[in-house]
Amino acid sequence: MAARTGRQYLEGLRDGRAVWVNGEAVRDVTTCTAFRGSLAGMAGYFDWQHRHADDCLMVDGNGGVTGISHLIPTSRDDLERRHRGLGKLARYGVGMLGRTPDYVNVTFAGFAGQPSLWRAAGNQEGHDNLLAFQREIAEKDLALTHTIVHPIVDKRVPDYAGVNLELALRKVDETADAIVVHGARILATLGPFADELAVYPAHPVPADQPEIAIAFSVPMSAPGLRILCRDHYGTDRDAFDAPFSSRFDEQDAFMVFDHVEIPKSRVFCDANPEVFNTVMQRGWTGNIMQQTVIRALTKLEFAYELASRIADVTGQQKRGETNQMLGELWSYAELTRSALKAAEDGAFDYGDGTWICDERPFIALRPTLPGWMVRANDILKTVGSHNLLATPARADFDDPDLEELLDHYLRGADDASAQERARLFRTAWDMVGSALGGRVELYERFYLASAPRNYALAHLMAQRLGTWSAVPEFWKATDAIMARYRRGDRPEREAT
Ligand SMILES: Cc1cc2nc3c(=O)[nH]c(=O)nc-3n(C[C@H](O)[C@H](O)[C@H](O)COP(=O)(O)OP(=O)(O)OC[C@H]3O[C@@H](n4cnc5c(N)ncnc54)[C@H](O)[C@@H]3O)c2cc1C
Repeated sequence: MAARTGRQYLEGLRDGRAVWVNGEAVRDVTTCTAFRGSLAGMAGYFDWQHRHADDCLMVDGNGGVTGISHLIPTSRDDLERRHRGLGKLARYGVGMLGRTPDYVNVTFAGFAGQPSLWRAAGNQEGHDNLLAFQREIAEKDLALTHTIVHPIVDKRVPDYAGVNLELALRKVDETADAIVVHGARILATLGPFADELAVYPAHPVPADQPEIAIAFSVPMSAPGLRILCRDHYGTDRDAFDAPFSSRFDEQDAFMVFDHVEIPKSRVFCDANPEVFNTVMQRGWTGNIMQQTVIRALTKLEFAYELASRIADVTGQQKRGETNQMLGELWSYAELTRSALKAAEDGAFDYGDGTWICDERPFIALRPTLPGWMVRANDILKTVGSHNLLATPARADFDDPDLEELLDHYLRGADDASAQERARLFRTAWDMVGSALGGRVELYERFYLASAPRNYALAHLMAQRLGTWSAVPEFWKATDAIMARYRRGDRPEREAT
């Protein structure tokens, strides 16, 4: 099978998975009324890759056509090629979709491109399974999501101790063909809409707790796997009224594993803390963040254009404070673009022949971007003001009496029509103020872990990679010069 269409994707979801939303058990997500718009949005993503096949698809080693996100880059050209494809995919949701399948595809391409990490510490079988699985998801064009964080119900207790450890997903048994896992993982975005759920390492685990050092993938329909959705924020509205909520709720879900059997062929790390704690150390950040920063850049540029158009349609082009905010927003996009370029320009062979971006610019962006995303929303609200709510619906324009009033009272500056004005503000409100907009903002804050944790990591990385000797060198140079003056030496010309 090659890259799938939206229809083929939807057919794949009819597998009897156990999903709950709003207190109801959903046995077929494709017929669930609440999910209709969002699944159409996901199906649209699969069709989009065919509409933009030159950028989004590639011919694989076997002559099949598959998604560009499965590419294992072996050169700078490959990274550029992948950038083009990921940029086109991000454009589908203008960056509002964080967990389109290309996210996990890029992750697994990165894993498969670092085989020496995975086959270390006696993990040859896990390594072989991983490589076979990466080829399988490419060939079948499966939609994957991931869940990497276990529930921390008491933050006074260390992550892997006491009550927190009790809830963590762990290997509890083994049969001839499977390992049995039990416990929970917090949010899996796209949970009910994905084909498979990947569980892979995040924070390092203690060496004396091998049972939690597991990595695998499991179909969403696996017996014992429960997908508990948060409220669905998708709305049954015209795309004019709610361009994002009508199609783009990626639906986060809490994942409970009740003695789930994972076939051994799908296990990539079987209770092996040494592998678990090292595979993320080399290359993961430089690889995945090419995808996620391209997505973030797409969104920041869209937000800047949206805010600029709002300024135009409300006649604020010459207001200093508005332009200041627009310039601020553009600066965030431009800094993101520059960091991405620096990371790509600094790419190199990380080992095993796989080219990965320089991770340093990404490590700096990782805790910083969430603040910029929140500020971008703040700027859209400030520039948009009450206009964000004075927005007639698409259907209001079908009423001839109302239409006349709307055209008169709710038009924009410079002859912008009432419809044009309404669509603009509705797009902005759906991005920053609707229930979905609020959820996306929370996603931006936390999907790569919290900013405080990531700033702490940035500091550790800076200490590991840098040689920090400018301070003592400055003191030494200062002391040497001042000693000369104290001795009354005449200043000497430095040798050039
Ligand atoms: C919408 C959404 C979708 C998500 N989707 C997924 C998904 O698909 N897959 C997945 O695996 N996970 C997902 N996550 C979960 C995400 O991985 C976690 O939310 C993230 O790891 C942060 O963990 P936490 O919420 O426990 O916050 P914490 O990291 O505990 O941070 C919460 C707050 O605690 C404070 N804090 C924490 N650490 C420090 C520190 N070291 N120093 C100082 N202060 C600190 C800060 O104030 C911080 O803001 C999603 C989260 C959201 C919100």
